[in-house]
Amino acid sequence: MRRPIVAGNWKMHKTAAEAVELVEGIKPLVAGLDVEVVVCPPFTSLQAVRAILANSAIGLGAQNMHWERQGAFTGEISSDMLLAAGCSYVLLGHSERRQFCGEDDSLVNRKLACALQADLCPIVCVGETLQEREAGRIEEVVLGQVGGALSGIEASTARAVLWAYEPVWAIGTGVTATAEQAEEVHAMIRHFLAEHLGKAAADEVRIQYGGSVKPENAAELFAQDNIDGGLIGGAALDAGQFAAIVKAAL
Ligand code: PEP
Repeated sequence: MRRPIVAGNWKMHKTAAEAVELVEGIKPLVAGLDVEVVVCPPFTSLQAVRAILANSAIGLGAQNMHWERQGAFTGEISSDMLLAAGCSYVLLGHSERRQFCGEDDSLVNRKLACALQADLCPIVCVGETLQEREAGRIEEVVLGQVGGALSGIEASTARAVLWAYEPVWAIGTGVTATAEQAEEVHAMIRHFLAEHLGKAAADEVRIQYGGSVKPENAAELFAQDNIDGGLIGGAALDAGQFAAIVKAAL
């Protein structure tokens, strides 16, 4: 039985003071629910949010990290820094980073290897653009991203990876994949993972859906066999909406 997980990706929103206010709002609303809840504020708010999360089951995640553990990489943040800031999770390969920061599968692969080695729980984001979907290339693109991220990573280690299927056309657009469209790709990813990790291990892997998830559509998405919760952008910036989405995963 896979435990549902709902993570909030706050993107480049919230100063430290605003982040504290948001997480103070979220904390009581999700307390005691049998859902793994994670918030991913910007780097500059991690420490402040961590302090609020003390004695709470909510996990702390970062939105990105570098692939080396230290060195001359101006402006970058390492896995060890994230661990020291209280993070247990890290988002990798978000489509906005692929689109605006030139991240490709080989870079995501290096970051993934580093996160796994550091014992950070990686949430690897994959998903096709509308153009790729319309060209019938969903499988090639999404499984190419999954396979690319896992390149050279031992199956025994790869089973610790969390995945987020986020069709690019659904992110921040208000257009959500239908439950059937999402389930089809989630099942495809799990089938692919079964070939690489073995069926038993793949059956344990959690695959979140992301892309305009709202309280109104979350329950139907999360009810699908292969959807194990969500990665939430816009709606994660509102405590009430985020908590309603978490409850939809119960
Ligand atoms: C995201 O950025 O990961 C995301 C899913 O955003 P939104 O929920 O706003 O579509």
